[in-house]
Amino acid sequence: MPPVFRFAPSPNGYLHLGHACSALLNFDLAQRSGGRLLLRMEDIDLSRCKPEFEAAIYEDLAWLGIAWEAPVRRQSEHFSDYREATDRLAAQGLLYPSFESRGEIARLVAAEQVRGTWPHDPDGVPLYPGVARSLSPEAVAMLRLAGAPTALRLDMGAARRRSGELSWAERGAGPSGETGTVAARPEAWGDVILARKETPTSYHLSVVIDDALQGVTDVVRGRDLFWSTSVHRLLQQLLDLPQPVYRHHSLVRDAAGAKLAKSTGAASLRELRAQGVTPADIRGMAGLPQFA
Ligand code: GLU
Repeated sequence: MPPVFRFAPSPNGYLHLGHACSALLNFDLAQRSGGRLLLRMEDIDLSRCKPEFEAAIYEDLAWLGIAWEAPVRRQSEHFSDYREATDRLAAQGLLYPSFESRGEIARLVAAEQVRGTWPHDPDGVPLYPGVARSLSPEAVAMLRLAGAPTALRLDMGAARRRSGELSWAERGAGPSGETGTVAARPEAWGDVILARKETPTSYHLSVVIDDALQGVTDVVRGRDLFWSTSVHRLLQQLLDLPQPVYRHHSLVRDAAGAKLAKSTGAASLRELRAQGVTPADIRGMAGLPQFA
């Protein structure tokens, strides 16, 4: 069976050099190994994802010389697949509803910080203090009746007791050079959200479900997602899904050494193109060889 790669952008802005690096690397690896390249739109955030960004992604990838298989999977068209997964986890007693707003969570964390240092996840966000885990069934019913919006969180302690030790095969490297067999540490993320208030899924859940449904064998993506793989391995284990191999690549950085991001105004591929930059230049700027 040929290996299956995928590029999975979120159509909430224009692609920049970091995306080009990921997309080209996936394309080159697929070409070199006689593998397939799939494209997936990670558009679960309906308020930020726009059809014009999706159209621009197709245009930019074609300009780079990348070919992908049809059809493109759009996550927003598959919410029932993610619901089925949360139903399975709920049936194992591994999910609980939480009702707090971001502001309420910030206040809970601040209260914890008065008592001592409070742990942060690998992205630097304070862990959820887990208060909703101990709500009584009556309190949950009352909150639901009052129409409080609900997110579903994974009970990480219970999930870890069920999963046992986990690891993944890493062909790239993590932030501190981790490679080979890497021990998963999903507990570093606390009780992660698997279904948001406004959408019946989350990045972690939909990426895992889709990689399995699409038969992805090789996940090639930026190093910023390295430690997310811990959560992905845990979900694969709990949902009995196959595990791909992973290759996390180094990030393209700006002149100040920061990771490129739409939010900090990184030049988009279309801006670079308008300035006369060629696809061959983009390969050079992303540190990739000219030919697959
Ligand atoms: N949609 C994610 C992003 O644009 C990538 C997800 C992944 O490759 O696992 O950053």
